Amino acid sequence: MLAGVAGLLTACASSESEKPPQEGSPKSGAELYRSGVIHHPGPASDGCEPRNKIIRHLVIHHTGAPLPSSLTMLQGKDPERSVGVHYVVSDEPAPRVIDMVPESYAAYHAGKSAWLEADGLNHSSIGIEIINLDGNRHPYPADQMELIIALCDEIIRRHGIRPENVVGHSDVSVGRKIDPGALFPWRTLAEHGIGAWPLAIDVEELLDAPVPDADLSRKLLTAYGYRLEPGKDGLRNGIEAFQRHFRAHRVDGTMDSETGALLRALLRRYRPETPLGLPEKTPLKDAG
Ligand SMILES: [Zn+2]
Repeated sequence: MLAGVAGLLTACASSESEKPPQEGSPKSGAELYRSGVIHHPGPASDGCEPRNKIIRHLVIHHTGAPLPSSLTMLQGKDPERSVGVHYVVSDEPAPRVIDMVPESYAAYHAGKSAWLEADGLNHSSIGIEIINLDGNRHPYPADQMELIIALCDEIIRRHGIRPENVVGHSDVSVGRKIDPGALFPWRTLAEHGIGAWPLAIDVEELLDAPVPDADLSRKLLTAYGYRLEPGKDGLRNGIEAFQRHFRAHRVDGTMDSETGALLRALLRRYRPETPLGLPEKTPLKDAG
């Protein structure tokens, strides 16, 4: 279609007038942004293309750069490494949501990535870039988090994204990316109904289970969604990625009873068909 081609040749503009037609979508622009988050139009980006998959994932990043240079980079003008993202959450005194790529386009934010059965998540995801120089060292301020939670909430509702598909870049590009970092408050998000978190009662029970060995650790991480490279380093990177999300107070790449309990509890809650590799319980004697 001509409009689509024109979109490719210029940029995936975010302003209302230049939005591509959203065929098959019953929602108008006004309905799309109904939840109260104020969206500020940002510069258009070349770092995108028409989407060819249904939206199933939400991928969260930190930019590792201040707002002005992030906005420049995310316009995707570098032919060597064109990047783009749907939304930027600024770190200004009054943080803003800045729109860069319309959701009907795939933005180049995830790069080489995988989650469960999905590969190359750009086409199946919405991306949010948060302005933070390093989320492993700098906490996310409360007012910025408030806005992130509201933005995630509206995106998840709009597309029916499952909790376990709300992920960090480090979850889907294991060993390659470390954003949004160990200080990103995933647990707080989960308390607001965003993303996955294990039930405390399950974690407590599973703390007594034998620590998964290397083979089982790899199986359990893979069953949850992590795509690991082969070998010892691949497994270590996978455990680190998991810990950065779910056990951020100690990210050491070593499977231990707490990490194992959190992982098994998540599987029990979100992937209940997965065998957890627990020892068989002794069957109760028939009382009769
Ligand atoms: Zn990233």
